[in-house]
Amino acid sequence: MSSHEKSVTVLGLGPMGQALAGAFLDAGLPVTVWNRTPGRESELVARGAVAARSPEEAVTAGELTVICVVNNAAADSVLRREPVAAALHGRTLVNLSADTPDRARDAAVWAKRHGIGYLDGAIMTPAATIGTVSAVFLHSGPDDLYQRHRPVLELLGGTHTHLGADIGRAAAYDVALLDIFWTAMAGYAHALAVAKAEGITAGELAPFAAGIATILPPIFAQAAVSVDSGDFSSHDNPITSAASSIAHILETSESHGIDATVIRAVEGQTRRVIEGGHGADDFIRLVTALG
Ligand code: NDP
Repeated sequence: MSSHEKSVTVLGLGPMGQALAGAFLDAGLPVTVWNRTPGRESELVARGAVAARSPEEAVTAGELTVICVVNNAAADSVLRREPVAAALHGRTLVNLSADTPDRARDAAVWAKRHGIGYLDGAIMTPAATIGTVSAVFLHSGPDDLYQRHRPVLELLGGTHTHLGADIGRAAAYDVALLDIFWTAMAGYAHALAVAKAEGITAGELAPFAAGIATILPPIFAQAAVSVDSGDFSSHDNPITSAASSIAHILETSESHGIDATVIRAVEGQTRRVIEGGHGADDFIRLVTALG
């Protein structure tokens, strides 16, 4: 069956659900939508989507159901009740709501018990990227199920990576990648506070902040080699040097009375590595000090 013969149901019409439904519409698929709070479907309906009155009606209308709500607890409150679960029997459900790997595995157990084909996924880019080459989707679950629905999922644009049969794997990547994102954003918030205290506006710092972001990809790649090989020897950036740099940040931050909790925690982890006799190693040896 070609992707253009499929009909799709999208449950959840927040910014991301609307973007997903919009991309399916743009691709020419018959799309049925439902959202807990009515009203969010009007623009999609104007573009040709059918608004279902209930999740069970929505699920029955589409050959493939995609749910994208705030988290799995919200997805459960939509799906884990009758007659919705019965309506999904024999169909495939793709859950693109973000949550933990364990909750993805729990959802898969529930789906299997109800005879529902289940794929879990994570969206790694903002809603505005959906339907464009910039979108990034991660998927996990049974390979045959993924391959069967891949042509339709790929209509959402961007890149789609199937990470394997372990249903928790997409969520595990999502959690790990968002760990980088939120820690970076916390660092940026702190940096802007320190800069402001020193009379530097956020706008003045921003171009240089972008410069810091661009030096990270090769550093990430080298750090990955070190972590996977267990060889943490540093050629030009020992962790003692990082400790000195972090001390300057702490001193400046505290001189302005700015909360330095995040960078203080990094300072403690760095100190543990040095006290463990690894001061000449690369900063990424921190991985081994986190427990
Ligand atoms: P939100 O994360 O705010 O989710 C809003 C959606 O969740 C709405 O449809 C809302 O329904 C629904 N919802 C919340 N609680 C419940 C509940 N108890 N029962 C039923 N439905 C509920 O907005 P997004 O659309 O942006 O995100 C959806 C998912 O996509 C999230 O997991 C998010 O992490 C992920 N994501 C979003 C990105 C983005 O750029 N927006 C980027 C990458 C991932 P209602 O309208 O009734 O409140």
